[in-house]
Amino acid sequence: MTICSPRYTCEGCGRQAAGGGQRFCWSCLVDIFFGRPPGTLAEQERAKCRAQRSEVEEAHLGARKGGASMIEIHNREGRVIHRSRNLRGILDHGRTVGIQSATGELLPHGRGRLLVRFGDGSTAETQFASFTVLERWLHSRRSWSGCRRISDCEPF
Ligand SMILES: [Zn+2]
Repeated sequence: MTICSPRYTCEGCGRQAAGGGQRFCWSCLVDIFFGRPPGTLAEQERAKCRAQRSEVEEAHLGARKGGASMIEIHNREGRVIHRSRNLRGILDHGRTVGIQSATGELLPHGRGRLLVRFGDGSTAETQFASFTVLERWLHSRRSWSGCRRISDCEPF
């Protein structure tokens, strides 16, 4: 059984894509079709990701420079097992032990709170200045699908 198909480097955008023998990835083929230089679409996608990332960094209160609010991951006994300045700590720990649930809650003044329960029973909590940004951030965590929820609504 083949798990990974061979990868090649697209001549237009330089990204790795699955397949074999091609010169361009799909998004660069679309560029060529519309008469744009190959790589235009890929660069637009990258710019969108950068903008979203900085929006999250901006809104995530735990990530403020010099701020006292570090993200702490507590084990079942309540002991701190990990500390990080930003959401990366939550993502990394989730990748290692899995995610049991990730819940976004609306706080007063449009703020948001994120509560994460990891596969090993440990937990983390952090706040966002904007609930909307938190919601969008949760929606883009596709690998957490089925474990994500807003308040006590159905998981998505
Ligand atoms: Zn490409």
